[in-house]
Amino acid sequence: SSPDRYAVVGNPIAHSRSPQIHARFAAETGEHVAYDRILAPLDGFTVTARDFFAGGGRGLNVTVPFKLEAFELADQLTERAAHAGAVNTLWIDAAGRIHGDNTDGIGIVRDLRDNLGVKLAGARVLLLGAGGAARGALLPLVDAGPAEIVIANRTEPKAEELAQSARAAATRVTAAGFAGLAGRFDVVINATSTSLDGDLPPIADALLKDAGFVYDMMYGAKPTSFLAHAAICGCAGLADGLGMLVEQAAESFFDWRGVRPTTGAVIAAIRAELAAR
Ligand code: NDP
Repeated sequence: SSPDRYAVVGNPIAHSRSPQIHARFAAETGEHVAYDRILAPLDGFTVTARDFFAGGGRGLNVTVPFKLEAFELADQLTERAAHAGAVNTLWIDAAGRIHGDNTDGIGIVRDLRDNLGVKLAGARVLLLGAGGAARGALLPLVDAGPAEIVIANRTEPKAEELAQSARAAATRVTAAGFAGLAGRFDVVINATSTSLDGDLPPIADALLKDAGFVYDMMYGAKPTSFLAHAAICGCAGLADGLGMLVEQAAESFFDWRGVRPTTGAVIAAIRAELAAR
């Protein structure tokens, strides 16, 4: 029989590591699936996705810049996707309904807590940024039970709005400007896109020096600008977002197949592929 078909859709898409990750998951779990890259025109995401499903495709990962359009396309959303306002995982059910999930946030929580052994329960967490990645991360982070999450963003009203969107919970969620950050944080998460340009969010070096653990959602062959700077500041616990990438993929695979692949060997393999380029 022919494999069930999945794909990642984005623009650009050539750089995506998702096909390699999902091929490894399929090999490990024995699931009979095929996984491709699809380049959608910037004004053509919805048509591309509908054509894929009409042609028998079973599920899609969605990446930049289409996560908001994927949110609009879904007939039914998971709670975390509804909260994030963005969808990175789509699938079609037997009745032809399109479901949308956001697995980015649970991806970073699993990487921090399970792979890296960072204690989130009871922690004081600094979340830098209030864009799509920060939005997706907030609810899963709250669910991990930190004592406090402070959200800081260049455009401060966006941090304020995101903090207010966090549902009532035991976790205190507040907003601050980059300049107004105070106290020691157990975990600092960079969800700004500054590392893409080799830049830094303008926060005090002392925050990084004193931090228990510093995480950058961006990843690459070399340490990101943010992680390199945190190391210079004296922080010893550092990780980039490659583990998050693999964990969000594993959660999407689980959405689609009901089987949860293991991730440790895949993270190591993709890390080695990055280094070899
Ligand atoms: P968005 O464009 O939605 O958000 C960008 C964020 O960065 C905003 O908060 C923006 O602030 C801030 N920002 C941009 N430039 C600057 C600057 N010069 N100084 C300070 N703040 C700045 O991007 P995403 O949320 O989608 O992505 C953020 C990062 O996360 C990217 O590096 C991306 O690669 C990474 N990512 C990694 C994933 C993984 O699996 N590892 C998954 C998803 C994302 P403002 O609101 O003021 O504009």
